[in-house]
Amino acid sequence: MSEISFDKPDPRDFLGIDSLLSEEERLLRDTVRDFVDKEIKPNVADWWDEGVIPHEDLARKFGELGMLGMHLEGYGCAGTSATSYGLASLELEAGDSGIRSFVSVQGSLAMFPIWKFGSEEQKQTWLPRLAKGEVIGCFGLTEADSGSDPAAMRTNARKDGSDWIINGSKMWITNGSVADIAIVWARTDDGVRGFIVPTDTPGFTAQDIKKKASLRASVTSELAFDDVRVPDDFVLPGVASMRGPLSCLNEARFGIAFGAMGSARDCYETALDYSKERTQFDQPIASFQLTQRKLVEMMVAVQRGTLLALHLGRRKDEGKLSPEQVSFGKFDNVRNALEVARTARSILGANGITLEYPVFRHMANLETVFTYEGTNEIHSLVMGQAITGINAFT
Ligand SMILES: Cc1cc2nc3c(=O)[nH]c(=O)nc-3n(C[C@H](O)[C@H](O)[C@H](O)COP(=O)(O)OP(=O)(O)OC[C@H]3O[C@@H](n4cnc5c(N)ncnc54)[C@H](O)[C@@H]3O)c2cc1C
Repeated sequence: MSEISFDKPDPRDFLGIDSLLSEEERLLRDTVRDFVDKEIKPNVADWWDEGVIPHEDLARKFGELGMLGMHLEGYGCAGTSATSYGLASLELEAGDSGIRSFVSVQGSLAMFPIWKFGSEEQKQTWLPRLAKGEVIGCFGLTEADSGSDPAAMRTNARKDGSDWIINGSKMWITNGSVADIAIVWARTDDGVRGFIVPTDTPGFTAQDIKKKASLRASVTSELAFDDVRVPDDFVLPGVASMRGPLSCLNEARFGIAFGAMGSARDCYETALDYSKERTQFDQPIASFQLTQRKLVEMMVAVQRGTLLALHLGRRKDEGKLSPEQVSFGKFDNVRNALEVARTARSILGANGITLEYPVFRHMANLETVFTYEGTNEIHSLVMGQAITGINAFT
């Protein structure tokens, strides 16, 4: 009979989740964690405060690490498992959600559609340079008047001889003004098509959205298309419906189910350390029952969410993960990460509102993560439809 082990659990890995990872996964996880500790954590509060990031430098370094489009096969991509991509997302988001967004957008939203729906020539032209970080991509789906309902988009493209002419605008586009190419989704007579639009094409403009109080270490832009002319071989040939953009979003949302647990873990660990050092009433605040309850709630949420993400990763690697199950991960892990961040904020007291500690930054970032890639409500409706068979979107 196997017996209960009386070894004390590790406060940072209470359930021993590490033992569920392969040697290769642990190595990759440690490499990304090390990068985040050295290159991101010491700088990110200043980037966030100033609302700028060294995107070219980061793109090159991420490229050298093989993290751009890492879960894609061929064309200079690393070809890792989905679980490894998830673990990398988790470690990046322990640094900052904006930094994880940079890598998610490049890999899952700019490279994936080319990889999945592009011609052989498009793949050869763009994927190796995107993988190296020489070229930065963005993904234009959302518009000012169509967010949760992207099928209501107004941006359109019409055929003119062997060219296409694109008109319209996109809103809230990550990396929009620093991108070299934009994957633009537009309404056509044949359905919704994806276009690879080099951002130096005449008629293309990008304007940054300022005064953000969330995801500040990330560029967010409005794109405008005024008679932007692209040749026929810039359209992605493999899809002509909303299946195109939605399948990209599934890839990115999968990474977010892991990523949110990175922010949550950083908040929990910061609060744990702080509570043991900070004294009030001549005792460390960790000694108060109310604080211990908060720490336990946070630890349980982080461990449970990490297990969930890992389960989704394993299912994806087996080819069994459905979009509804991705919704489960995005829905549950992001709301729990927000709760963890808010609880950690309370443990840090006044220090919790400064950028000297990562907690408030994560908390503010997670408000974006709660909304983008399908809001919490939209993912509820996806799962609601799956369990009732009734569409409650309209
Ligand atoms: C920092 C940032 C970066 C982003 N990056 C990108 C990007 O790179 N590319 C891109 O294309 N987009 C991007 N987005 C856009 C993001 O995906 C949208 O903001 C999101 O889809 C929600 O759309 P919306 O903001 O228009 O809100 P709305 O759709 O207007 O929703 C407002 C509220 O109404 C609720 N709601 C809407 N419909 C329903 C319904 N049927 N039932 C119940 N409730 C409903 C929503 O859940 C939400 O609570 C980004 C957003 C942010 C904030």
